[in-house]
Amino acid sequence: MCLTEAHCGTDLGMLRTRAEPGPDGSHLLSGTKIFISAGEHDMAENILHLVLARLPDAPEGTRGISLFLVPKFLPDADGGVGERNGIQAGSIEHKMGIHGNATCVINLDQARGWLIGEPHRGLQAMFVMMNSARLGVGMQSLGLAEIAQQQAVAYAKDRLQSRSAQGAVQPGKPADPIIVHADVRRMLLTGKAYVEAGRALTSWTALMIDQAQHHPDVAVRARCEALMALLTPVVKAFLTDNAFETTNLAVQVFGGHGYIREWGVEQYVRDARINMIYEGTNGIQALDLLGRKVLSDGGARLKLFGEEIGAFLQAQGGEPRMAEFVGPLAKLLEATSALTGEIGVRARENPDEVGAASVPYLRIVGHLCFGWMWARMARVAFAKLDAEERGDGFYVAKLATARFYFAKLMPETAMHIRAIKAGAEPLMALDAELF
Ligand SMILES: Cc1cc2nc3c(=O)[nH]c(=O)nc-3n(C[C@H](O)[C@H](O)[C@H](O)COP(=O)(O)OP(=O)(O)OC[C@H]3O[C@@H](n4cnc5c(N)ncnc54)[C@H](O)[C@@H]3O)c2cc1C
Repeated sequence: MCLTEAHCGTDLGMLRTRAEPGPDGSHLLSGTKIFISAGEHDMAENILHLVLARLPDAPEGTRGISLFLVPKFLPDADGGVGERNGIQAGSIEHKMGIHGNATCVINLDQARGWLIGEPHRGLQAMFVMMNSARLGVGMQSLGLAEIAQQQAVAYAKDRLQSRSAQGAVQPGKPADPIIVHADVRRMLLTGKAYVEAGRALTSWTALMIDQAQHHPDVAVRARCEALMALLTPVVKAFLTDNAFETTNLAVQVFGGHGYIREWGVEQYVRDARINMIYEGTNGIQALDLLGRKVLSDGGARLKLFGEEIGAFLQAQGGEPRMAEFVGPLAKLLEATSALTGEIGVRARENPDEVGAASVPYLRIVGHLCFGWMWARMARVAFAKLDAEERGDGFYVAKLATARFYFAKLMPETAMHIRAIKAGAEPLMALDAELF
């Protein structure tokens, strides 16, 4: 996917790569792209680059960008791999992580390309791929968090340091395993709660995708499409932020050994870091959520999502054991709806209010999603425990983790609500010169 240029990443409206019409319906592209993932490699016969460029008559800004298919090797007469096209890797970036992926500067020198879709509507076409890539990046982070978590748990059960505050747990050994310590448990449970809720949320999102594409009822398809659009920036940003925290906590569980390359966990932090930046930075995801997905349609998509959670909450009426989850989740749903209205009103007076609120707002919506997922998992756990299914503690662990999540992680939302209510003024008051 060749979008980024040295002077433009987020603001693609500024891109300069040119596409001149050729005699045979193809185009000749010239320009330089940077940071192109897997921009060059020999793992496939050919590479088909999807390149954003401007046609000669293109209007300024994002409305003048077109999408082209530019193969590394041009097709020969039989459609096989023919001569080399004028698209080359200029260099490979030296970077913090994801060393298995060659991130390249890509030079286009009269490279032949073919227009995809309509002229000047390339960004819209690229967004089809980018929305799916954003979900993919969320999954990439979930995978990294999972492996970091598995290794941290194994290490915490093995590493002997100090005695439990309750007295020796393994008196025959020189010390107790560090998993006895409350603070180590805080780190491990944070990772566990984030990973398992992330898995549940992405499974639910996948179901929405399937229904948006294949459900026989057109109204259901539209509803699922709207929910997916709302939650794509949440899956991208909330999961990647949480994965960075989880991998970072895994290093902390390993102590000094976590910082030493030989153990492997430091790599997860480096690899997880990029996911908060590419496919649109997490700051941009937050603006997309609050500005484009919530405020621009007067909260209609958010209302749909609220209805999903509301239906679940209502269905728990007959189960008193669910009160500990239903109460806080209902309160957060209500608070989010009220807060959204408040931001909307303020944004009419001052457009900076949206950017000032967006990142904490995304975390609140992320917790709304995770709170819902944990409440759903708790509901299933109660039922399975009643039925005495599985004797291996699986559902006991689910319930304990749900309780940890509601007690220790979800309250982060109270801080964010307060920070959002403080508005844009504390952010914008300082003159740039005085930083
Ligand atoms: C390893 C790696 C692989 C990549 N792979 C690809 C690839 O395959 N194809 C490709 O095309 N690109 C790729 N990229 C580029 C990546 O998508 C961009 O780096 C990213 O979109 C950010 O653009 P930028 O680096 O120009 O940062 P900028 O756009 O300069 O942003 C800098 C900071 O300003 C913030 N900012 C910018 N505008 C706003 C705004 N309006 N409101 C609030 N904050 C704002 C950003 O959030 C960020 O924090 C890759 C990058 C890396 C590092």
